[in-house]
This record gives sequence, structure tokens and C-alpha cells, in this order.
Amino acid sequence: MLESIYDLTPKEIREHDIQLILTDLDNTLIAWNNPNGTPQLREWLALMDEAQIPVVVVTNNSAKRVARALKELQLPFISRALKPLNRGINIAKKEYRVNSSQIVLVGDQLLTDVAAANNARIKSILVKPLVNTDAWNTKFNRAVEKSVKKQLLKKGYLKRTWGHSLNG
Ligand SMILES: [Mg+2]
Repeated sequence: MLESIYDLTPKEIREHDIQLILTDLDNTLIAWNNPNGTPQLREWLALMDEAQIPVVVVTNNSAKRVARALKELQLPFISRALKPLNRGINIAKKEYRVNSSQIVLVGDQLLTDVAAANNARIKSILVKPLVNTDAWNTKFNRAVEKSVKKQLLKKGYLKRTWGHSLNG
């Protein structure tokens, strides 16, 4: 659990032998209501680019919507990923020819992002949603997620705080 995807550093990525970062789009990479992204995002992407760590967006959105959202950022993406199913992740796995153990998926939702990663048997990082409000189609998921989170917390499967490092 990380506060933000921006907390990921090339150094820590390498330490965990990760070769490919898959990321959710809405509320993980960009706020759903601010499709242009922030200077912080551009900085982080430049850092990963420099380190030659590919960042690929894996989203349930349509290609049209994603292409529009990513026009400025020029990121590769896989649309209609069908998270929590592993369709999108499997496509990425094939395309980038990396082992499952070398891929991480970053996302802000347990029921789609983390569940998809678990289904594909890859690592995942849950991040705090960039903004507190959601698009209408996420509101239902959030409500269910709230009760799932409660149970996971009780069983000790989730941390109570958001970290800033993979090692802490
Ligand atoms: Mg999201």
C-alpha cells in the first residue's frame, strides 16, 4: 500500500526485480476529473523513462476514452482490460515478454485492480485514490470495497496506513 504511484522509485523497482509497471488510469495516474495529469506525474514518468522501466496503462475504459486521456502523456495502454479478470494483464505479459514475477500492477481499487493482479498471479500495489470523489460508475464499487476493506483490516491483510516506500 502506497500513498501514491509517485512514491515508486526506479531504485526500489529494481530492488524488487520488477521490469514492467502496469497501472490503472483513473484516480491512480490521473484524477478522473483532471485528465491532463499533473507536473508531478510528468516528472515521475520521465524518471521511469530514464531508468528504462516501461509504464503501461491497463484500463477497463474504451480505447477512445483512453487515447483521449493519454494524448498528452503518450503512454502505451491496453483498453477494455476487463479487470478484475486478467485479460489486460495477460496481453501486457505477452507483449513485453516478462515473467509474472517481474510485473507489478498499481491501482486504486481492490475489487478491480488488486483482484485482477491476484487473478493473473502478479504483484500489486494499492494506492490511495488521487481524489476523493469518483466517476458515477465507480461509486457502486467503492461502496462494496468499503465493506471488503473492513473485513481485510480485521483479518490483518491490509495495513492501516499508506506507505511511501516498498520497503517500509
Ligand atoms: Mg481507478
